[in-house]
Amino acid sequence: MRRLFFFVVLALFFIGVGAYPVEYDLLPPPDNATFSPAVMTYPLYSPLKTGRLTDGFGYRLDPITGEEDFHYGTDYAASEGDPIYAVLKGTVIKVSEQESYGNYLVIDHYHGFTSLYAHCKKIYVEEGDVIEPGDKIAAVGDTGRTTGFHLHLELRINGVALNAKDLLTVAEE
Ligand SMILES: [Zn+2]
Repeated sequence: MRRLFFFVVLALFFIGVGAYPVEYDLLPPPDNATFSPAVMTYPLYSPLKTGRLTDGFGYRLDPITGEEDFHYGTDYAASEGDPIYAVLKGTVIKVSEQESYGNYLVIDHYHGFTSLYAHCKKIYVEEGDVIEPGDKIAAVGDTGRTTGFHLHLELRINGVALNAKDLLTVAEE
């Protein structure tokens, strides 16, 4: 009886070990995104004084549809109206409004590097403005497709999306 109990425990142990770790396939990034780390030769200015990272770069379950999709940006929750700062010197190439981004702007930092700031409440700059790092460019809002006040930040090199979390630090509150 005791021996049977021992074998049952042993069997459960092996079944348990076999069941973990969970096996899964790593999905490759889509064409216009990369998981490869990028090296910046210049430090990026934080786009927010404080913000809480709520949704990272990469595959995720969409908070609205519940479906798996690829998140090209990094989301930082902040308070309504909090100032948003330019991450690097550049020229504003787009100030617009769109269904999912809401009010957004794009800064061209030259050499193919761009930053996009979405869901803004207000935008303080115009297309063609030359921006210094740390310039106040917009205010945090919840315009477009969003579940709350946050900054959706996209960093791209030649159109290929990069993980903002690897490139800059935003202080937590
Ligand atoms: Zn986002």
